[in-house]
Formats: sequence, structure tokens, C-alpha cells
Amino acid sequence: MPSWKSNLIEAYRIASWPHRRWQYLNRYRNGKLPVYSLFYHRVADTELNPWTISCDDFQRQIDWFQENFEIVDLRECQRRINSGFNNRPTLSITFDDGYAENCEFALPMLIERSIPVTYFVTTYHTTEQQSFAHDLERGAPLPVNTIESLRALDLAGVEIGAHTRTHPDLGQVTCEAELVDEVITASREMERLIERKIEYFAFPFGQYHNLNPRVFELLRQAGFLGVCSAYGGWNDVGSDAFHIQRIHGDPDFTRMKNWLTYDPRINKVQRYDYKQNAEILHSEEATSKSLRQIADKETDLTCESSSSFPDLYVPPIDSTTTNQEG
Ligand SMILES: [Zn+2]
Repeated sequence: MPSWKSNLIEAYRIASWPHRRWQYLNRYRNGKLPVYSLFYHRVADTELNPWTISCDDFQRQIDWFQENFEIVDLRECQRRINSGFNNRPTLSITFDDGYAENCEFALPMLIERSIPVTYFVTTYHTTEQQSFAHDLERGAPLPVNTIESLRALDLAGVEIGAHTRTHPDLGQVTCEAELVDEVITASREMERLIERKIEYFAFPFGQYHNLNPRVFELLRQAGFLGVCSAYGGWNDVGSDAFHIQRIHGDPDFTRMKNWLTYDPRINKVQRYDYKQNAEILHSEEATSKSLRQIADKETDLTCESSSSFPDLYVPPIDSTTTNQEG
């Protein structure tokens, strides 16, 4: 980001400081401090791109988080959201995709500092050691984590989460068999590889239009504890803790600080309402059937049985959302 833009954001942050301070104190007194969750992709000093943050910048951000927040895992985030009362500044850290370089600096640093982290990975890219399409399109294929490295992370206390099999835009997938394979079967395969139950899922890309109410329902029925989006926004206490809204781990520290200090605009980020469609479109009976078929190891799920869902409710995309693609 150009420095004039950073300066502008910092000026805006300082100018709106009284409002931010009032927001904080008011929420603190009433036990309504929101719960923040961040997502990063790649921490490295080479091939810098919009989803990469340098090692120094990452460390500066973590230092600042440790001074200003309690950094907790996703379970504790959900507990605080569900409790209906929170007066402790709360933040969790996640990573999406599974880039190999994260094992060189970022993850060892978090492990050494005993900072909880959830690390969402795709099954296909890991097992086949394939670079992501969004990197290939840029002409810069980047190495991804191996199963051995994920096992080592798991043993070191890093929570491994699911991020589909092939990183598709699930908002565009209407085929039931494909959804089940990408979301449930791929997660189960990863569980077997790392020999640990996977309990959280993050949508690829994670914007409103990349989400799918059917996926929320499949995950809930399959026993997952939570689902992460990536379009920005904090999580208010008392909101639906199953869906965790995340903010981009922005390489630009000014913009990151701006979002995490009660930017008045963040209140405008509308929560994606998956239930609004799920109840109409997808009965529990249908979900149970899909999951039973997996349990029975039926491999002949076809797309014909549920090939077309009616148009899904998608909230308008607010220009103030805080995200980069997940
Ligand atoms: Zn992703």
C-alpha cells in the first residue's frame, strides 16, 4: 500500500479516536467487547504478494497483539461469544492454505510463545504437493506444507483445520456429491493422515459470495465445532458462535491497527445469514442421508439428485469489509 494511503488511514484513526475510546469503554463496562479472529496466509521474505507478510512485519503485529489482546484458540473465542459477557480484549490467529515457508519463521515463533493457532489446509495440495491456482496464475508457484510437516505442527500444539480438497469457490458449487467430497470426505482423509480429529473448517476465499448455506449445514451435522469466513467483521458476544467472522491479517500494520481499534465502519459489516436459506433449502433428512452415504462408503453419489438449488440469499457486499481473499 502506498505510504500516502497509510498516512491517511492513520490520520483517520487518530481523528476518530474519541469515538473508538468511547466504543471500547462502553463495551468494556457492559461486557460486550467483540471477539476478533484474524487469518494469514503466508509469512516469508520472498515472493511478496497481497497474501504474504514479511517476517519482521508479522513479528511486529504479534508483539502488538500480545500487548493489547488475550490471544486464544477458536474454542475459547466461541466460549466467550456464547457466554454473552466479555470484558477481555480477545483475538485468535488462523492461517489458510498451508504454505511451506510458514514453518520457517511464523509457526516456530508462535509455538515458542505458546500462542494458539489454527492452521487450515487443503487436502489435495498437501498430498499431491501442488501449488495453488492463485499462485500459478501469478507465474509464481509456491511450496506447500507436506503431511510430515503438518504432523509435526500437530504434535507441537498447532490445531490443523480443514480448507476443502481443491480450494474451489464453494459459493458456485451446487452439486451435492462435490460439496460432500470437498467439505466432508476431504476433511476425513486429512484426519486420517495427521491422526487427529479436525473440528474447524474455513471457506476458501471466504467472501459473502463464496459461502454456501448447504456447507454450513453439512459441517454442523458432521459434528464440526465451527466454520470460518473471511469477509471481515468482528464477532459480537451473543452472536452465532458456529460461524466465526475473520479479518485479514493485513501486511499493512496501519490498516490492521485501524480495524482492531473499533473502526466505526466495522459495525456495518453484515453477518452472513446461512440459516435463512438452510432451513428452506436443505432439510436435516437430506443432510443425514448424505452423511450416511459417506459412512457406508458409498462412492456413487451423483450430482443428479440435487443438481440445482434455488438462488441463495447473499447479503450485499459492503465496501468497508476488511478482507483479502481467504
Ligand atoms: Zn484459501
